[in-house]
Amino acid sequence: MDRLIGVDVGGTRTRVGAVYAGRILARRAFPTRGLAEVKAAIKEVLLEAGWKKPDAIGVGAPAPMDMRRGVILNAPNLPHWNGANVAEELQDAFDCPVFLGNDANCAAVGELVYGWRAQDFLYVTWSTGIGGGIVAGGQVVWGATGQAGEIGHITLRPDGPHCRCGKRGCLEAFAGGAGLSDRSLEHFGQRFSAEELVERAKKGETGALSLVDDACFFMGQALAIVAELLEPEMVIFGGGLTNSWDFLGPKVIAALHSMSRIRPRVELTKLGDDVGLLGAATLPFHFPKL
Ligand SMILES: [Zn+2]
Repeated sequence: MDRLIGVDVGGTRTRVGAVYAGRILARRAFPTRGLAEVKAAIKEVLLEAGWKKPDAIGVGAPAPMDMRRGVILNAPNLPHWNGANVAEELQDAFDCPVFLGNDANCAAVGELVYGWRAQDFLYVTWSTGIGGGIVAGGQVVWGATGQAGEIGHITLRPDGPHCRCGKRGCLEAFAGGAGLSDRSLEHFGQRFSAEELVERAKKGETGALSLVDDACFFMGQALAIVAELLEPEMVIFGGGLTNSWDFLGPKVIAALHSMSRIRPRVELTKLGDDVGLLGAATLPFHFPKL
């Protein structure tokens, strides 16, 4: 089983690749829509790679799911994927086994197999939302139904801002791109994107700086909770907001160190934007027994 298709469904972009021995032989990236677009992209990369059919397909998506059946449940951030029967549809179309997993857990698999190759680490996706994946003793910690590692929904302030998950004061509500943008609206009466907010903070604008400092503080607090609990060797970050890592990283690390006696090495992913795609392609080998 070595002709693998990886599908990384992002909140804004979807990446599809034909992966052989850790190399992406053919790839497509496009604004996220639904399964039809993914099927079309798989057909294209198969053709380009010169494969008749893949040996397996792995799909990572940022949505609640039934991993056992390969079905996406309610997906507020992915309207075209609500209730999508990913495994059945792709299996029918490409006549091979299909595996569906949480996107951040897939990225953790990517890091485990092709990235830093640490054996005990937390992977954090820091973008519109915040996702996490745990690897302990060289194994992905999936949890009872595959939802483990949701660092974004650790409650840090029970009376904090509303989170998209329905709770209040989650890490994601403070530090996720969408959460930061919501907070800019509350504070300035004007909505800025998280990237704009970070740029303003870099220039020293007090209001923006205080929101960004808060985000980094809460990120550090969540990492400290995980560090004390699991003693990871590393924390590995990926995702759009890490484009400003030079500015954000030192703040996050300072907060982590102020709240945890255990101080894992904190690094960016070695795989860049491909971490989710490579991880999804390797998901068939790391899929849990559910
Ligand atoms: Zn939440």
